[in-house]
Parts: sequence; structure tokens; C-alpha cells
Amino acid sequence: MPASITRPRLSIVAPCHNEEEGLDLFCRRVAAAAAEACCDAYEIILVDDGSTDGTWEKISALSRDHEAILGVRLLRNHGHQLAATAGLATARGERVLLIDADLQDPPELLLMMMAIMDRGADVVYGQRQRRQGETWFKLTSASAFYRLLSRLSSVAIPRDTGDFRLMNRRVVDILLSMPERERFIRGMVSWIGGKQVALPYERDPRYAGETKYSLRKMVSFALDAITSFSTVPLRVATWLGLITAMVALALLVFTLASWLIGHTVTGWASLMAAITTFSAIQLIGLGVIGEYLGRLVQEHKGRPMFMVEAIIRHGDLAELPVD
Ligand code: UDP
Ligand code: MG
Repeated sequence: MPASITRPRLSIVAPCHNEEEGLDLFCRRVAAAAAEACCDAYEIILVDDGSTDGTWEKISALSRDHEAILGVRLLRNHGHQLAATAGLATARGERVLLIDADLQDPPELLLMMMAIMDRGADVVYGQRQRRQGETWFKLTSASAFYRLLSRLSSVAIPRDTGDFRLMNRRVVDILLSMPERERFIRGMVSWIGGKQVALPYERDPRYAGETKYSLRKMVSFALDAITSFSTVPLRVATWLGLITAMVALALLVFTLASWLIGHTVTGWASLMAAITTFSAIQLIGLGVIGEYLGRLVQEHKGRPMFMVEAIIRHGDLAELPVD
């Protein structure tokens, strides 16, 4: 966008996947918070990430009734991180708030986030103190994941943070210039650096519907995060390989020595145990390498990150940007 075009002061980006029930309230609360936190110069960008319910109809209606609301519809479900990226790419604001559409992140925090950014922060991120209405499994797995990630990664990714954050234009532009397709936004923002400030908050239960992160999505998200931010697993595979090679060598020497002194090795049990252990370790090593290789292949293809089907403003379909 040429510098001469005036930017709204604030853009609010919310990825939505089957969120039709909560969107009315969401927009009301966000609009109130935005009006209080800055001025009237804000835009709300709702990204419909391949919803199968009435989310797009809801977004169209909202955009008709409210000038500030803009809808972006993706061609299919691309997942939370890419939907958020599509929203960030559409946002024109000097500052951009990324927020979930399910009202788990209270929009009212915007006021405080804007105040902290006024004092010079590049990023203000919400840090969850307590999560209500989430299962024991989700809480423990999320906490274990953040601990593992911070041990494995050389980038300090703050614990217990989601993607709920206010970013300035510089950070958003750098983020958008990063070409990787397997995106882990909170880690990428940490990697960018600058002045990043945590704002502790209590995470509310979902307003409506249920979590869109199935166990499978959670595992693949965790793998994306770890493989994009750490090569430690590859190193571990190398070390495991070296250690087992040494043990195998010692065993070979032992077997040969026993054979030379005429002591035939009996007992296939130990043999079987050794074979299975080593093949298991080898397979783990191969799996780890495969994870990285697979991602390399995906990135190498250089496919577009997401595909926009339509953009709606004031209830009318807008022209898609060509680039
Ligand atoms: N979401 C999305 N695409 C997906 C899954 C989720 O755009 O494939 C959106 C969802 O509508 C919500 C946000 O991402 O606004 C976070 O998802 P969810 O609340 O299901 O995750 P959780 O809060 O349980 O981690
Ligand atoms: Mg949620």
C-alpha cells in the first residue's frame, strides 16, 4: 500500500471457523472496546476460515450494518494460523489486534494494550493467568507443550500466551514478510524481537460453540511449533544413533570374543531384545528426520499460504487485490 493512503489507527483481526452464534456479541464488545481505546478510526476484519455453518452470512450481514466491519472469506479451511495471517495481510491499521472470535480473550483489554503501546512497546501480548472452562487434558497438555517448547527453542517464546496480541505496523509487516507456510505466529513474533510486553489476563470460557482444535490439530500445531523453532530433536536423533552404535559395537566385540573362546552364544531372547530396541531407536530417528524433511518439501513448493474467495465491505463484495 502506498504511504499516501491513510491508515485506520487500529485494525482488529479475528479468524472465525463456525462461530456464527457468537459473532454479534463479539462485534459489539470489540466495537465498544475499540471506540473507547482509540477513536472511530478502526476496522474489524472477520476472516471466515471455511466455515460450514452460517458464519459467512452472519459476517455479510454485519458488514452491511457496520461500516467498520470487513469480511474475508477463504476458499477452504486453512486453519487458525493461516486464517489469522490472511486477516493480518488485509489489515491496514497502524496497529493490529489479533484476537480469537470466541470471546475467550476479553476485547476490553484493548484499552490497556493501547496505553502500553503508547509508552513504546512494539508488541503487547496477553499472558493467560487462569483458564476457565477448559478441560483438564487441554490445560495439562498446553502447559507441558509450552514447557517443552521453551526448553527446545533458542528463541524465548513466553509461556502461556496465545495469539491474542496488539502489534504495531512494523512488526506486522515483518511478520507478513516471513515466507514460511507452517506458521506459528506467537513464536514468529517473539523471534522478531523489539520491545514486547506481557499483559496478564484471565482467559474466559468460550461464549458459544466448542473448541475447533481437535487432538489431531493440537498435535500437528505442536509439531509445527517445535520443528520451526528448534532443531534439537534432530540433534537428539544423532546422539541416540551414536550411543546405540557404540553399544552395538561393544556387543559385537563381546559376541566375537565368546565365539573365539568356543563359547557359543545361547538365548535368542537377548538377541531379539537388542534387535527390537535398536530398530525402534532407528525408526524414531528416521521419523524425526522425516518430520523436518516433510516440512522442507512443503516450504519448497512455495504454494500460496491461503486463498481468498471473497472480501465483503458494507455488505457488497469488494474487488480482490491482485498481486
Ligand atoms: N479457528 C479458525 N480455523 C480453524 C480453527 C479455529 O479460524 O481451523 C479460529 C476459531 O474460530 C477461533 C480461534 O481460531 O476464533 C481459536 O480457535 P479455538 O477457540 O477453537 O481454539 P482454543 O481457544 O480452543 O485453543
Ligand atoms: Mg477458543
